[in-house]
Amino acid sequence: MSFYARFIKKGTAAPWRRPFRIRRTRWERDESMRVGVLALQGDVSEHARMLTELGSQTVLVKRRPQLEGLQGLVIPGGESTTIGKLMREYNLLLPIRAMAQAGMPVFGTCAGLIVLAKEIEGASEAHLGLMDIGVNRNSFGRQRESFETDLEIFEIGTDLFPAVFIRAPHVTWVGDGVRVLAHYQDRVVAVRENNLLGLSFHPELTGDARLHQYFLSMVKESVKVFEG
Ligand code: GLN
Repeated sequence: MSFYARFIKKGTAAPWRRPFRIRRTRWERDESMRVGVLALQGDVSEHARMLTELGSQTVLVKRRPQLEGLQGLVIPGGESTTIGKLMREYNLLLPIRAMAQAGMPVFGTCAGLIVLAKEIEGASEAHLGLMDIGVNRNSFGRQRESFETDLEIFEIGTDLFPAVFIRAPHVTWVGDGVRVLAHYQDRVVAVRENNLLGLSFHPELTGDARLHQYFLSMVKESVKVFEG
């Protein structure tokens, strides 16, 4: 059973249960990119599948040796407290922070966005604390735990992006170097700061691969910079 199956009420045709199909694009497959998905908890397999379909060499990262040679890392949705706790327990927090500070692109979705943030509302401590943003962990909670909506994200084109929100956080403030990529109503739900990309929602649960492609293009760019 997929991690998110428990959020889906019996008998409802939840939009993210639609058969998984990646839109045809002119993206060139590039097997040489080695991208990790932090695989401690949460929505790992959907991200891995999407990255692999787009042609990257995908590594499930559970322990330190799997960080070796990575050119990018995805931190999936799930439960940020659990992911943060396991990152500390398995000594992954410091090496991942160092790799990101050295320029490796990191893509955090939902809980992953919370893990990236410098400030988590109501919490005394951040996790990676890399991105100059504050987050509210369950800003769409209670009355609307899960929903899908179409977002304008001009960075990836003019077609609307189908975004699935599940107990989603939103960004409460952004620092000077942070670019806001999308809003939902008046809330910031997608941000980029240099090599860091963060979303409140789940791009891996729909068939639209444009945000994963966008991330892979960040990886490609950073590899070029590193290799000269
Ligand atoms: N609100 C959750 C948290 O605090 C994140 C939910 C999600 O990743 N779908 O970690």
